[in-house]
Parts: sequence; structure tokens; C-alpha cells
Amino acid sequence: MPPVDRIAGIEWKRGAAGFRAMLSEAVCGPERLIGKPSMSDIDLLVLDRNVTEAPSADTRFGGLPSADSDVAWPACRECGGNMQFLGQVRLAGARRLHLIFMCANDPGMCSDWEADGGCNAVIGTGIDGLGIVEAPSEGEVVRGKPYGARIEQVQAADYGQARTLWEERHPGREQEVLGFIGGEADWLQGDETPSCDHCGEPMRFVVQLEEGPDDGSGMNFGGGCGYLFECDCAGGSGKFLWQS
Ligand SMILES: [Zn+2]
Ligand SMILES: [Zn+2]
Repeated sequence: MPPVDRIAGIEWKRGAAGFRAMLSEAVCGPERLIGKPSMSDIDLLVLDRNVTEAPSADTRFGGLPSADSDVAWPACRECGGNMQFLGQVRLAGARRLHLIFMCANDPGMCSDWEADGGCNAVIGTGIDGLGIVEAPSEGEVVRGKPYGARIEQVQAADYGQARTLWEERHPGREQEVLGFIGGEADWLQGDETPSCDHCGEPMRFVVQLEEGPDDGSGMNFGGGCGYLFECDCAGGSGKFLWQS
């Protein structure tokens, strides 16, 4: 079990949201700190710089998306500009690759944190016969060279603890933790699990993302995390949101 100050240390790094979480922990949930946490295997996504720019069905970030057919590059509902490609995510063994886009034309002006605001988009593609999707020439559409992610499983009570344990084993490399994949979302704020537009059911959590390893070219989640969801129903696709 981690000492209290270490938990506080994690939360402090999260800024204002973390401070609120820390307060609510102290006020409402001391048993979580002193009780016996139930451990589970958390699949951390850890930076892997060894990626090429060739089409790929793997989880990776930046660069250009891979798709099995023509993709209409999404535009922002609020400002009308082309969205930026953040990255692509695939669960182990899945036949579907999620391409995540978000408006970066006028940071802070468009409602890009909302799952249903039309200022971000998730496009699903199969994984056979992939080609690179060319970006449009207008707008903030690409984040720079792609980087990959490998999975490192850490046994921990939750994502925050898994991240801390990894950082302790790899001092000074905390920005290499890109998030985690599978399991349950670790909400910074309240639960905002979106509903599927097709079947209306709550969607399944896929991945939680940090802003990225490189200051300046990271994804902009207001210092928080991005969350991707999917639905298996016929016609269901993905949704994305972020919290800070
Ligand atoms: Zn916009
Ligand atoms: Zn559905």
C-alpha cells in the first residue's frame, strides 16, 4: 500500500483537479487510503520511439493515420476548421483501429473536451490493407513525427499507483507513460461515460491518455487526460472526451 504522501504527490501533479480529488479523498474516503486495496493488472502504455511512418495497425500517436479505405478528414463543428490527428488506438486482438481527431485550430475556443460537441471525432477502420491517410493542407492537422506505445503491465490498485510504481523504477522518465489501455477509466472528474449514438447503451472504455512525451507538441487536454470509448453494436463507433 502506498503511503499517503505518495498518493498526495500523484494528485498534486494533476493541478487543480488533482487538488480537488485529494481533498475529496481526505474528506470522504480515508478508508481507501488505509484499507487493503484490491490489486489488478494495469496495462500501461509506455513510449516507444521505434516506429516508422509506414501504415500500421498498432497503437501510436502523432504523424498521419492509417486506414483501410478513404477517410474524410473531420472538420470542427464550431470553427469549421480541419481537426488535428491525435493518434490511433487498438485493443489487443481487436479487428478495429480507432483514429482520434480533435480541433487544435484555436486552442481553448472550441468545445473539444466534449464527447458529443463535434469538436473531436473518432473514426473506426479495419486493419487489413491499410494505407496512410493524407492530411488536408489547411489547419493545424498534424502533430509531428509519430511515436509508438508498448504495453507494460503493472500490478496496482489503480492507474495512479501503477504510474507511480513505474516512475519509481524509471526515475525522470514519467512523461514516457502515455496512459493505459483496457479495464476501467480512472476519472479525474466525475464519470462521463458516453452513450452510443446507435444503440443508446453506455460505451465501453478503451484507453486513457496523457498529453504525451514532448512538451510543446503534446495533445492539449488542459493538463488532464483524454478518454476513448467504443461500442460493439453494429453501427456503433467510438467517442472521445477529456477532463482536467
Ligand atoms: Zn474548432
Ligand atoms: Zn452501440
